Amino acid sequence: MARYTGALCRLCRREGEKLFLKGDRCYTEKCAIERRKYAPGLHGQNKAKPSDYGLQLREKQKVKRIYGVLERQFKRYFLMAERMDGITGANLLQLLERRLDNVVYRLGFASSRREAREMVSHGHFRVNDRKVNIPSFIVRPGNVVELKDKSRSIERIKESLVKAEHRGLPTWMEIDREGFKGKITHLPSREEIPLPVQEQLIVELYSK
Ligand code: SF4
Repeated sequence: MARYTGALCRLCRREGEKLFLKGDRCYTEKCAIERRKYAPGLHGQNKAKPSDYGLQLREKQKVKRIYGVLERQFKRYFLMAERMDGITGANLLQLLERRLDNVVYRLGFASSRREAREMVSHGHFRVNDRKVNIPSFIVRPGNVVELKDKSRSIERIKESLVKAEHRGLPTWMEIDREGFKGKITHLPSREEIPLPVQEQLIVELYSK
C-alpha cells in the first residue's frame, strides 16, 4: 500500500505543531519543531491569514498525518463515521483510534504509530489468538491484542513498554505488561481521545 516516505519532521513543521511521528526523538531537544517553528520551504516564514478552507484543510491534513493515513482511506473512514450513530467528528477519531497500529502504539509496544504499523505488518501481533498483520484492522472492545511468544524477547519492544509508561495509558484501554497483552475496554468518547484537533473543521470540509 502507498505511504508517505518523505521527511517526517517536515510534516510537523507544516502543521506548526508536534505530531510525535518519530517516537523518542520527539521528546528531546533534537525535535525539529523546537528549533525551526515555521513551515518548510521558501515561503515558510510568510504569515498570511488562512482562509476558512485553509483552516479546514490543515486540520484534515494534520489528522491524516498523525495516524499515517492517506486521502482515500481517510475519506473512507469519514463515510463510515457519517453512517454511525452520534457525532461524525467524534466517530471519525474513534475509528482512527481503533486501528490496530494505533492500539499497539497506545498500549506502548511501539514508540510511534509508524513503528507500530511496521510491527503489525511483520506479523508480531495476534488479536483474540489469531495472527493479524493488517494495520488498519479495527479493534473491537474486548478483543485481546497480544504480542506473539516469539517476539517477546525483542529488546526494542521491551524498552518501548517501559518508556511508554510516561505517556500513560488511555482510560479506555487495559494492559498486562508481564503478559504482553492489552485490550480496549470500551469505545472512547471524544474526551478520552487526547488529540488537539478540531474535528468539526474536517466535517465542514467534507460536507461542502
Ligand atoms: Fe515532529 Fe517528532 Fe520531528 Fe519533532 S522530532 S518535528 S515531534 S516528528
